[in-house]
Amino acid sequence: MSGETYRRCPNCGKMSLNQDYCPACGSIVNITLKRELERKEKARQRIKELNDPKKKSAVTLFLENVKDHDNVFIKYIARFFYGIWIVVLAIGSFLALLFSYIAA
Ligand SMILES: [Zn+2]
Repeated sequence: MSGETYRRCPNCGKMSLNQDYCPACGSIVNITLKRELERKEKARQRIKELNDPKKKSAVTLFLENVKDHDNVFIKYIARFFYGIWIVVLAIGSFLALLFSYIAA
């Protein structure tokens, strides 16, 4: 291997040497990098869908309902667990992000 990689831009057809991005139009010409970026983007999308507020899990919905319960005692217990649950979700999505980067 000479270490010199010529790549042809799929967008404008310009040749480039040892470039990941086309110097003429900025398209990704490194296919390996492109696939890697696409994979990471897909992982990000998946995590975003999991955290979508419109697609709340049953636990989140339950806690949000009980959070405004008439009984003050139950209300505060629910708020306490809701706080923990949010932290769990945050850690979970962080770990999912972390694993997606390790796996990629
Ligand atoms: Zn180009």
